Amino acid sequence: MDFVLTDEQKLLQSTVREFMDREIAPLAGEYDRKYHPLPQDLFKEFLGKLKPFGFLGGVVPEEDGGSGLSYQENGIINEELFRVWASLGGAVSIVYGAAETLHLRGNAEQKETYLKPIMEGELIPCSGITESNAGSNPREMQTRAVSDGDEYVINGSKMWISNGTIADICILTTKTDDGPHQDSMSHLIVDGSVSPFQSREIRKLGFKGFPTAELVFEDCRVPKNNLLGELGEGLKFSLKAIEGARLAMSIGAVGCAQAAVDASVKYARERTQFGKEIGRFQLIQQMIADMAADTDAARLMVHRAMDLLDRMGRCNRESSMAKYWATEAAVRVTLKGIQVHGAYGLSEEYPMERYFRDAVCFLIPDGTTQINQLIVGREMLGFDAFR
Ligand SMILES: Cc1cc2nc3c(=O)[nH]c(=O)nc-3n(C[C@H](O)[C@H](O)[C@H](O)COP(=O)(O)OP(=O)(O)OC[C@H]3O[C@@H](n4cnc5c(N)ncnc54)[C@H](O)[C@@H]3O)c2cc1C
Repeated sequence: MDFVLTDEQKLLQSTVREFMDREIAPLAGEYDRKYHPLPQDLFKEFLGKLKPFGFLGGVVPEEDGGSGLSYQENGIINEELFRVWASLGGAVSIVYGAAETLHLRGNAEQKETYLKPIMEGELIPCSGITESNAGSNPREMQTRAVSDGDEYVINGSKMWISNGTIADICILTTKTDDGPHQDSMSHLIVDGSVSPFQSREIRKLGFKGFPTAELVFEDCRVPKNNLLGELGEGLKFSLKAIEGARLAMSIGAVGCAQAAVDASVKYARERTQFGKEIGRFQLIQQMIADMAADTDAARLMVHRAMDLLDRMGRCNRESSMAKYWATEAAVRVTLKGIQVHGAYGLSEEYPMERYFRDAVCFLIPDGTTQINQLIVGREMLGFDAFR
């Protein structure tokens, strides 16, 4: 067991941290208030700045044009991004998540057409599973792709799709009528330039700059060549690959919590009441200590799961534990951060209120707290609460 980063990882962390503090942090508060959500051209500008650090190619091997990072290294750089601006971190996580899916499932032509430009930051992807009546249980989805010659004709809609309003392509999970059975679900690459679909932004509590959309597919014709992976295997793949997505949200929550710790320490050293810095009061010190301990515990859980994924290729129980622990911890930590700041914690002149609103948003995607608790419970007890 090793709790210390290697020299190489420390260098990666300090280089990315310094860049984030210099280039991204000064813009985050203003842009998050201004853009609901970030427009595509601005997002692409940010992708251009982040690309040299390996954000877009993530864990895709270098020989396939990716960044060749381990899950842990990917976590290290993403914590730094989420720490300064969770909305941008969320939008970027969809990019490297889609790159990983296309790398694992795409054929040579699909990799050339879609994977390469995604890792260059030229093509924006999104991934559509959830529907208005199919959230925690995606098997209840209604969207259908009907076979018609060389094409599928898609009808249906998707909800809460990250990057949906700025996406060029959607990796769509849909029922397919020619699959192994009536309810089998497949992945189709829906390229908006060939197979147009509509999108509508959904305004929400936090993650303001991070696009979230409803997508509507009306007689949307997609070439059968755009089937990604095996027919009928789409949902199965998504559920297996969800460990990486859970960890992306978990490390994001750690970054957000760390931002609250840093801001609160700074504030408690500077703010004076009763003639001294509030950081000298024991009850403030208790809040700061709890915030730091909660954040550290979350980080350790997330890194353990990432390390397992790197070494063993699976971390179902550990990634579910990390997801619900880290995201609930971020809410506790940012709420305490608001209390350390007093009324200024609620003011838009300080970043604490943004950290809190963003922290709450980590609770829901890629399995809610309750769903991840049930996954852990199933592994511990052998009883499946979903049946
Ligand atoms: C910011 C954000 C980004 C997202 N991005 C994407 C995306 O890119 N692509 C995509 O496909 N989806 C995305 N989602 C959707 C997300 O995955 C779903 O919102 C999530 O799975 C929960 O579904 P739901 O909101 O319909 O809640 P529901 O499933 O209706 O759950 C409501 C409540 O019931 C609880 N619950 C449900 N079932 C059980 C059970 N069996 N036992 C106990 N409690 C239960 C839940 O925990 C929750 O508390 C995103 C959501 C958000 C908020």
